[in-house]
Amino acid sequence: MSKRILLLPGDGIGPEILAEARNVLEVLIGEHGLDATLQEAPVGGAAVDACGDPLPADTLELARAADALLLGAVGGPAWDQHPRHQRPETGLLRLRAGLGLFANLRPALLHAPLASASTLRPEVVEGLDLLIVRELTGGIYFGEPRGIRESDGQRQGFNTLVYSESEIERIAHVAFRAARERRKAVCSVDKANVLESSELWREVVSRVGGEYPDVALRHMYVDNAAMQLVRDPSQFDVLLTGNMFGDILSDIAATLTGSIGMLPSASLDANRKGLYEPIHGSAPDIAGKDVANPLATILSVALMLRYSFAEPDMATYVEQAVSFALSTGLRTADIAGEEESVGTAAMGEAVVAAMLAFQH
Ligand code: NAD
Repeated sequence: MSKRILLLPGDGIGPEILAEARNVLEVLIGEHGLDATLQEAPVGGAAVDACGDPLPADTLELARAADALLLGAVGGPAWDQHPRHQRPETGLLRLRAGLGLFANLRPALLHAPLASASTLRPEVVEGLDLLIVRELTGGIYFGEPRGIRESDGQRQGFNTLVYSESEIERIAHVAFRAARERRKAVCSVDKANVLESSELWREVVSRVGGEYPDVALRHMYVDNAAMQLVRDPSQFDVLLTGNMFGDILSDIAATLTGSIGMLPSASLDANRKGLYEPIHGSAPDIAGKDVANPLATILSVALMLRYSFAEPDMATYVEQAVSFALSTGLRTADIAGEEESVGTAAMGEAVVAAMLAFQH
């Protein structure tokens, strides 16, 4: 059956970068037999302007019916003073919650020609190719009870770090399955020496790991994992972790690769339906100027092919087209350093040209 892909351009640079990703999808559909139809819907500030709601009912309905979603980004100063329910980011949070997207996948891959853009020495980041699998809908960000209360004559803030076995099991399965398609190694990150929730996490992950005898499993405390990420990041294949630890570690991993404009992400439900998006925001400072890097969004298409559509060869093909465009020396401003740069459209066109030149 034909796959339904919903495109959500959003705000700021969102429409510009999504237009380039759309061209890539159209080549896949037109030239490579990807059986998919594309639809588009408003979300974020654009939807607030159009109908007063950052996630209109029609958009949510299309999102529910879709097999995969591709988002540009939402947000911008024009909506910062709106009441919370009319903020662009609220629309995105409601979309993630409404679709039950519990698994966040963030690859961090160093494209060899960009080694000098990393904050680490080239020899340290060489070979960096890891995937962070982060639990997204549980843990301390959602645990109850939470709040600020009076205690002993002063205010006390409190949160609850809670994970049930089923929540740990389902995210562990995502990590082990992803590892099977990669280098077959999972490192589960916790704080089991201090936290009971981590003790259970470790026990359940080990049990699930027993179902994947072909995947090597090791456990690491989060403080050590943070240190190892900046000391020797290429030792990792898949890093599996909970919501808060994943939030922090994924930003460390992102900086290792140099530019925010290069990093895609996926958020998946239990049936591998996914919301795919670059990790960056709507970059209002450069919106409408044809300078934004479209590669994180194009690489998000590759993730969609790999994780929602089980088309790993097509995914690799898109990734190789991106690598080829970079290897010819083309750079958008964010990755150009002192070199000359090209615009959003020119970079997108170079990827499409590479795809057409190296037919799949
Ligand atoms: P941002 O990621 O939008 O921008 C940070 C910096 O990175 C800016 O200097 C920007 O120009 C640059 N940048 C970002 N993407 C780039 C790209 N593709 N190419 C070149 N340079 C790029 O973060 P911010 O400035 O903190 O937030 C701006 C808006 O985006 C806010 O309204 C925020 O709420 C929103 N936001 C949305 C998402 C999302 O939609 N998932 C995520 C983060 C932030």
